[in-house]
Amino acid sequence: MIAEFIREPRVAYFSMEIALDAAIPTYSGGLGVLAGDTVRSAADLGLPLVAVTLVSRKGYFRQMLDPQGRQVESAATWEPERSTRAVDAKVAIPMEGRSVWVGARLYVLQSHLGGRQPVLLLDTDLAENAPEDRAITDVLYGGDERYRFKQEMVLGVGGVRILHALGFRIREYHMNEGHSALLGVELLRLHAYPPEHAQPGEPRYDVPRVRELCVFTTHTPVEAGHDRFSYELVEQILVGSDPGEMFVDLDELKALAGHDELNMTRLALNLSEYVNGVAVRHAEISRKMFPGYRVHAITNGVHPYTWTCESFRALYDRYVPSWCHEPELLVRVDGSVPDEALWAAHLQAKRNLTDQARGAGGVTLDPEGFIVGFARRMTAYKRPDLLFTDVERLAAIAAQRTLQIVLAGKAHPHDEAGKRLIERLAAHARQLAGRVKVVYLADYDMAMALRLTAGVDLWLNTPLAPLEASGTSGMKAAFNGVPQLSVLDGWWIEGCIEGVTGWAIGRTDGPEQDAPTLYDKLERVVLPLYYGDGCGNAGWLRVMKGAISKNASYFNSHRMMRRYATEAYLR
Ligand SMILES: *Cc1c(COP(=O)(O)O)cnc(C)c1O
Repeated sequence: MIAEFIREPRVAYFSMEIALDAAIPTYSGGLGVLAGDTVRSAADLGLPLVAVTLVSRKGYFRQMLDPQGRQVESAATWEPERSTRAVDAKVAIPMEGRSVWVGARLYVLQSHLGGRQPVLLLDTDLAENAPEDRAITDVLYGGDERYRFKQEMVLGVGGVRILHALGFRIREYHMNEGHSALLGVELLRLHAYPPEHAQPGEPRYDVPRVRELCVFTTHTPVEAGHDRFSYELVEQILVGSDPGEMFVDLDELKALAGHDELNMTRLALNLSEYVNGVAVRHAEISRKMFPGYRVHAITNGVHPYTWTCESFRALYDRYVPSWCHEPELLVRVDGSVPDEALWAAHLQAKRNLTDQARGAGGVTLDPEGFIVGFARRMTAYKRPDLLFTDVERLAAIAAQRTLQIVLAGKAHPHDEAGKRLIERLAAHARQLAGRVKVVYLADYDMAMALRLTAGVDLWLNTPLAPLEASGTSGMKAAFNGVPQLSVLDGWWIEGCIEGVTGWAIGRTDGPEQDAPTLYDKLERVVLPLYYGDGCGNAGWLRVMKGAISKNASYFNSHRMMRRYATEAYLR
């Protein structure tokens, strides 16, 4: 079953999380969705890849909300046996002076255009392992620092070893974020100079050769967001089964990963010849954060077919054939799709959302009225409560023209501030009851993300700039003809043409101006255009088409992968 995938050399794409399917909980948010879209585009385009991630048998978590808006978490246990097969190989990696065995399950990602790509889900739940070690690949982003470092050992070191054990030939290793940087340490070991060459003070490893093999995509625009581990912990875990034998020369590791603590981003930067940020602005910030490194920009994109709802797929199939392979063709939407057909497809997506959300929190959304959507990881910098800064102003705007709000998102179980944000949103919804319909949908996942980005009229994003490296949900909205109103940050700096693809909340006035600007734009620009104020909705349809023809045509993962292929993998 592996045979069909080992005939040609492949790019190994490593990611702690990958969103393969809405029913497979091996992802937490944007990073995993991007990884999934990467593999889906590779499958559509016939670009030979092999993805490596953890099996995460207990998933990230499932979210329920109590009436106060408190998040209740439960394990998102799934059965890998149903959609994956165990591969015929296992490898041992050293950990805390013993060996931990790592196996893998193969998931074959099938493109609707015919291509297939292998995804290896690393698994330590093997009979050979002690109970504690069997749990290493259970919970995505779970546990403490020690658990996390063990997961990163399994991903990086276990991943490289499994690939070799299975007979894969790897032309390039791509680290999606710093979590997988230990793969570079395993590559150093594989490219160690022969012992007879070892001279005191001479390097033990062929670092330039490893750098040729590695590509690193960074996703975090703040220093504090990078994964790091104390060397005390690292030394405890990296000691081999022979007493005193370290997995890697610690002095050389420190030279590459930082002297005070092991910084996974530094390690990845030092071991990768090609490094990129995920939007133009994010690459600029990364260059400032890491002076001396060359950081390229490849702006993220989303997978065309996955993020287009049924009614829009039918619309494009009819008017823009081949859009799934060449989403660039969507530039033609302005001239070739009739307004009535576009609006009918949108109303269908809207009804699909309002039907599914019927009765949530005691509210039923009206598909005839304007709906604004906001859904993403609930964490402080995303500022999900910005829209509710002045609830009386919001209510006054809604009193003039119907305005409904739909929200969703999970907070990481350890993110207390994020959880309080969800409670605050629930409190605002109660406060506005009878004046503005506000619905919070529990358990945000891929399927809900598609329903929401397709079924609202306006997609809202209000991060505190410059903390949104890229953002991708607004790109999903664009595929479904939904314009975005967003703070100018991440991809929106490139994607926003004011009044053409959506609207900006400006960066220049300072963050304290973001809420007033948001209200002004909603009240004076967005809602009057939507309702047409007696003149029909031709103006709104023009913006819908602008979002598709100018943004979906460009901010897709096919363009992104063609760039990775020509600039990073084949450099
Ligand atoms: C697309 C997606 C995200 C990322 O959204 P951002 O706007 O980039 O924050 C997060 N979670 C899910 C389930 C998604 O589908």
